[in-house]
Amino acid sequence: EKGKPLMLNPRTNKLLGIHGLLPPKVETQDTQAMRFQKNLKKMTDPLEKYIYLMGIQERNERLFYRVLMEDIEELMPIVYTPTVGLACTQYGHIFRRPKGLFISIKDKGHIRSILDNWPETRVAAVVVTDGQRILGLGDLGVYGMGIPVGKLCLYTACAGIRPEKCLPVVIDVGTDNETLLKDPLYMGLYQKRDRTQAYDDLIDEFMEAVVEKYGQDTLIQFEDFGNHNAFRFLRKYREKYCTFNDDIQGTAAVALAGLLAAQRAVGKPITEHRVLFLGAGEAALGIANLIVMAMMENGMTQAEAQKKIWMFDKYGLLVKERSDTDANQEGFVHDSPGNVQSFLDAVNTIKPTAIIGVAGAGRLFTPDVIKAMAALNDRPIIFALSNPTAKAECTADDAYALTDGRCLFASGSPFGPVTLSDGRVFTPGQGNNAYIFPGVALAVILSGVRHISDTVFLEAAKVMEFVYAKGMAFRYPEPMDKNRFVRGTVWNTEYDSFLPDTYDWPGVKFAPL
Ligand code: NAP
Ligand code: MN
Repeated sequence: EKGKPLMLNPRTNKLLGIHGLLPPKVETQDTQAMRFQKNLKKMTDPLEKYIYLMGIQERNERLFYRVLMEDIEELMPIVYTPTVGLACTQYGHIFRRPKGLFISIKDKGHIRSILDNWPETRVAAVVVTDGQRILGLGDLGVYGMGIPVGKLCLYTACAGIRPEKCLPVVIDVGTDNETLLKDPLYMGLYQKRDRTQAYDDLIDEFMEAVVEKYGQDTLIQFEDFGNHNAFRFLRKYREKYCTFNDDIQGTAAVALAGLLAAQRAVGKPITEHRVLFLGAGEAALGIANLIVMAMMENGMTQAEAQKKIWMFDKYGLLVKERSDTDANQEGFVHDSPGNVQSFLDAVNTIKPTAIIGVAGAGRLFTPDVIKAMAALNDRPIIFALSNPTAKAECTADDAYALTDGRCLFASGSPFGPVTLSDGRVFTPGQGNNAYIFPGVALAVILSGVRHISDTVFLEAAKVMEFVYAKGMAFRYPEPMDKNRFVRGTVWNTEYDSFLPDTYDWPGVKFAPL
């Protein structure tokens, strides 16, 4: 509180009335940050660190972001993957205080009044999940709230978006997770997921209520919805709202960026790559479609580009002989290349330059798979993007050791540096949409984009220049120096002054009495 409310508040109006309630020393944020960091360093359990950090976020938001931003490399694995995954599975058990907005299917018809209960009025970005596919951990129902909360921490820490502009939402339509339905500490509705029209109506109502309350240009990021709904809602809302699906589109931008960076080391243009996915869901299809766009920019036809991309799911390679593939996968369903039983067979038959793991099913890039990639390529590209760490397709250790340090490796959750027996040290890259969504969100919010097209993700690295160049922005005049504009707008963690804005007021002459 500041200004008039502080003055009117009977608790604070007598010179704040807090003298004596605090120790006498006036502490700077530097000192507070030092205390915070010291305490964190003492903790060894990541979940304990998570609880501590989230507590500071509630008590002193600026201090929280100051420390997070100063040490993002150390702390991102706590507020984000992998620890946030653990925190979600334990949500009801480690619960202290609610964060974010909970909307359940019982609230149908009343979403607007729930939004009116949210204390902030100038929300610019919403991250919403229905908890059905939390990381690679499956259906966590309302326990999935950790994800929108963690994602929005990165909006602020990585892109400088003011925290009060960010709204985390979980939509509770039940859960199919039997463990949670039996968990006395579970905090959502004790019912199976509603899959009826009521669910669709609820999401429709939610979208309408958000833009009605916060404006048509409110960014709505869909996160960790189940496969079918993720694609459906993206298709339904992408032209109507300012929305994107992070798992499909954000992940795609980061994986493509990884391939483009790798091609420098491999010495082959993107058009000469052959990519084999493990998994054929949201992430795989998002990445594949963006690779196709990148190949088309380099002169290939869509059909030629699609032929370079193969997918292997729970039931094997996507081939025309199968009857269980869906419409989203169509472009990547090819003629059978021969007898392929296992992923290893697929690698040996298709001879990919890159394998990308997005199945959320654990260590399926087996030593044999990695060795096969090493035999086929001088510089095999191996991306194990599934989260959290336990779901990654292989470890960084295995990737580097089994390719004699030749692979170009990235993982969805971070791995530490790897030392090979000959002493060489490799620092693995992280391939996570965290490198994309905060920047895209910042650009979208600052320029006021109407709809977010896939090309935005293709251009994510220079996204803001792009939306203005294509006439998609409606914030005018267009800032001349966008770099300065962005830097001038981003939030910082310094404390606000409570002192009034005082200044000299020259040149006033009073008439003599
Ligand atoms: P999804 O839409 O449910 O897709 C999962 C895919 O994996 C499906 O095609 C599924 O096949 C397949 N699959 C499941 N088990 C398999 C197995 N044992 N062998 C082969 N394929 C299998 O989920 P998603 O959104 O793509 O996410 C998948 C994973 O990617 C998650 O672990 C998530 O954490 C990770 N991810 C990472 C990032 C990042 O930034 N690094 C971003 C998004 C997602 P069926 O359809 O036949 O079951
Ligand atoms: Mn996600």
